[in-house]
Parts: sequence; structure tokens; C-alpha cells
Amino acid sequence: METAAVKSMLAWYREHQRVLPWRSLPTPYRVLVSEVMLQQTQVATVMPYFERFVQTFPDFAALAAADIEAVLKLWEGLGYYSRARRLHACAQQVMENGGELSDDPTELARLPGIGPYTAAAIASIAFGRPYPAVDGNVLRVQARLLADDGDVSSQSARRRVYERLLAVIRQTPDPSAFNQAQMDLGAMVCLPRQPLCDECPLRAFCRAFASGEPTVYPRRPERRVTPRMHVAVGLIFHRGRLLILRRSEDQMLGGLWEFPGGKLESGETPTQAVEREVREETGLTVEIGALVGVIRHAYSHFRITMHAYRCRLAEVGEPVVACERPHAWVIAEDLPKYAFPKANHKIFACDGFAEGFQE
Ligand code: SF4
Repeated sequence: METAAVKSMLAWYREHQRVLPWRSLPTPYRVLVSEVMLQQTQVATVMPYFERFVQTFPDFAALAAADIEAVLKLWEGLGYYSRARRLHACAQQVMENGGELSDDPTELARLPGIGPYTAAAIASIAFGRPYPAVDGNVLRVQARLLADDGDVSSQSARRRVYERLLAVIRQTPDPSAFNQAQMDLGAMVCLPRQPLCDECPLRAFCRAFASGEPTVYPRRPERRVTPRMHVAVGLIFHRGRLLILRRSEDQMLGGLWEFPGGKLESGETPTQAVEREVREETGLTVEIGALVGVIRHAYSHFRITMHAYRCRLAEVGEPVVACERPHAWVIAEDLPKYAFPKANHKIFACDGFAEGFQE
């Protein structure tokens, strides 16, 4: 990037930067929390979560001492729950190391949940160190500036942009502003489908704009069809309580709670799947009752259709749950204390769900 382009971008940033809660007080802890939350999640979604999180856990010590259940509960709805577990582990490691974050990206990247982008963002925003934070927005702006139609999703392309910007950021007096200006430019002006070139401080330097077709850059990788998975779950009510199981830590959505159930096998109906999955996961035999709902939910790499049935225990007497994972029989009032995936919240909202507690 030419010096004049950097100057123009920084002047624009001083005037137009977004007001974000973590920017008012960019301590290493707050920058870390915001950057981890922003991995794969939009700024507008993150803002209320960030506020609640730093109010509840204001520093590394508070987060390190917290129960993981409480951390997951605050993260509920934000998705990608492994981020919450890694952030918790990261805080514990920071406390073991003396309670301070390093300002060196190589050291930072050794901590759980911190990759090269997050490490550079923390080093520059919290400590003013000259390392470029290269995310999707920055890759798009840079590809357009140079009218580079290569595939920006590759590691080598990211590395090339990083090396190029490293030379530039070392010459700038304010590395934090340099990185955040590019983030804001990508989020507010150089938009993926409709870049607002007339408002852009880089227009005079931009080859994609000069070409007349800025959206040609960067080249988009071919889209893959997202597979859909059918799952069936059993809502097993017993004397006003509902059975829930905790997902294993090493699974996707690990540590969250769910209903017994799982994927339909080939040729299986949803009710057959519920009977089988409940038996395999809990050792219980159930009679299938009413269909409470069929909900659809999209995750990043696949979509699910979930069939939820009310179930009655087929055996008399107190049920004995044979399950290696933690489980709980919960009353309706206690359900909000447990963190569930978003798909399960859609089941809570179905007509007929709450009635199960009256049985
Ligand atoms: Fe993006 Fe247009 Fe600015 Fe070029 S001029 S960086 S395409 S917004």
C-alpha cells in the first residue's frame, strides 16, 4: 500500500470508525474476548454478548476461576462453543503464567483459541505492536486494491498479504488504527457485493475500481452444497421432569445439553430412530408419544431437520439412566440454567413442549 493510501485510510478512520464496546477500553483481556467472539460471528451479534461477558467476568482471574457451565451459559446462542471452552482454558493458562498476556504474537498463538489473526489483532490493538491482522475483510480490500483475482482463501495468499502489509504497518505510527481501519473499511465501505466506492478513501489507489468491475475481485471459490442431516430426539418426561444429557467435550457443541437422540439410519423412520437412540444412549425403553415439532436449523457446514417426540417410559418404577455422559432430570423452571444449542431452543418454543411437564 502506498503511503498516501495509508494516510487517506487513517484520516477516514479517525472520522468514521465504528463505536464498539471493546474499543472504549482496549485492555488485553477485553481485546482477547472481543476477538474470540468475533471469530465467525458478526459484530452486531457479538456486542450484547461481549457486554454481558465482561460484566460477569471482568478479567482473566474471574474467567479462570469460573465454572465452565457458567461460561457456556453466557455463550449460549453465540455458536461455535469450542471458542468458549478455549477462552476459558486460555484464561487459566494466563493466570498460571502470572496473569499477564504477552505482547508477542508468537507467544500469544501458543495459548488455546488464539490463531495467527487473533494474535496479531491483540498485539496491535492492545499493545500497539506492528503486526497486520489479516481477516476476510482485509483480504477483500487488498485483492481489490491490486485487482488481484487469485484465490484469497488459500494459506499462501493470506501469507502473501500478511508479508506485504507487515512492511507497511512497520512504517505507520499507529498499528492499532491501521488494522482497525482496514477492518472498518471492509465492513462498512468495501462490501462484498456492493462496495461503496464513492465513499471510499482508497478509491484513487484502487485498481479494481479503475477496472470498472470491483466485485470481480477477489475471485469467489465455488460454493459447495450444504448437506442436510435428519435427526430424531426423545423428550422423556417423568413426574414433571425432563431428561437431558450433556454432550461430550470433544464433540461439536461440546459441553452443551441436549435431548437423547441422534441421526436416522438408512431406512429408519424418526420414531424408530428415537427408540433406538434412547435405548443406546440411556438404556431406557420408551413408548413414543406425540410429535412435538419438526424444526430446521443451519450450522456452518451442514443443516439439520430435527424431529422431536414426547416419550413415556415403558417400564414402571424409578428410571435408571445408564449413560456415561452427565445427565439430569430437570423441572421446567430450571431449564434456563442449562446451556443448549440453538436448535433445541426451537424445540422449547414448539406448541406442546411445555405440556410434557404436566404429565
Ligand atoms: Fe473497495 Fe471500491 Fe474502495 Fe476499491 S474503491 S477498496 S473496491 S470500496
